[in-house]
Amino acid sequence: MTAHAGRAIGARTRLVGLIGWPVAHSRSPAIHNAAFAALGLDWCYVPLPVPPGLAGAAVAGLAALGLAGANVTVPHKQAVLPYLIGRSDEVGVLGAANTLVVRDEAGQPAVYGHNTDHAGFVRALADAGIDAAGCRAVVLGAGGAARAVVYGLLQAGAAAVSVLNRSPERAEALVAELGGGHDSLTAGPLEAGFLGRQADQADLLINATTIGMEPAAGASPWPDELPLPRRMAVFDLVYQPRRTRLLAQAEAAGALAVGGLGMLVHQAALAFELWTGERAPLEAMWQAAAADE
Ligand code: NDP
Repeated sequence: MTAHAGRAIGARTRLVGLIGWPVAHSRSPAIHNAAFAALGLDWCYVPLPVPPGLAGAAVAGLAALGLAGANVTVPHKQAVLPYLIGRSDEVGVLGAANTLVVRDEAGQPAVYGHNTDHAGFVRALADAGIDAAGCRAVVLGAGGAARAVVYGLLQAGAAAVSVLNRSPERAEALVAELGGGHDSLTAGPLEAGFLGRQADQADLLINATTIGMEPAAGASPWPDELPLPRRMAVFDLVYQPRRTRLLAQAEAAGALAVGGLGMLVHQAALAFELWTGERAPLEAMWQAAAADE
């Protein structure tokens, strides 16, 4: 059931959606439609399945069909970039857009790109009582999510960030691209001995790999034989399942354990605010995000 059930969708309804492939599994429609309902906004959010190779047509379609904007997910976050009229600074740095806003410019629709992942991550950290300023962080992974996390940590003033990845050359490339002016940003392999030494120095561990995500929910990036330091907070970006094996390991060690749902909600809230200009109703969005659990 959608938040629009029982309400008329008419000529004034503003439409936004999610461009991706696949999109059927996404929680974004539920989160955004709950937010529109909570504020009584005549808006509707729909999944927009766009096959690979059609990102440009999708961006042109948003403008032509009068949508107010869209979220963008795999595999189009990079592919949409050449088709945008403009983009925020962080889209340039991250090389990816997760939110598109259609603006009216002298009667013509113009599509702009934004990225709300890094700010969503930092807000979720703050919600959990973790201050990124001055923290010493170990980031696992070097894909798109890791890139947003590292950028968010550097923007928030982290003292040191170590990026560990199964393919170390990807971690090195990420550090080379984001590391200008940050001597404290380093790269290495995601291997037990190295991870243990990095974790000994860290007060925050972030999993930005897909390890532990359904359907392989029994896996963890933290090796069983390695003691997990109690003073190290653990933030797992994976939100399906909500309680990952890594979070269970952290809890068993007595460490603070934070799941990825908060980041999902906050990046959605920031997109919502870009589209509507209204303050996002976080509680309604949280409830919708957690509803399937
Ligand atoms: P990518 O596909 O871009 O990157 C995947 C990363 O996981 C790579 O670093 C890859 O290493 C690593 N990896 C995958 N499988 C293994 C394995 N078996 N062993 C070791 N490393 C592995 O994915 P994203 O960056 O887009 O997403 C990463 C995770 O973050 C996903 O679970 C996603 O759901 C989550 N996420 C959560 C968000 C939230 O709001 N909570 C927002 C965005 C993402 P390699 O380079 O060696 O292949």
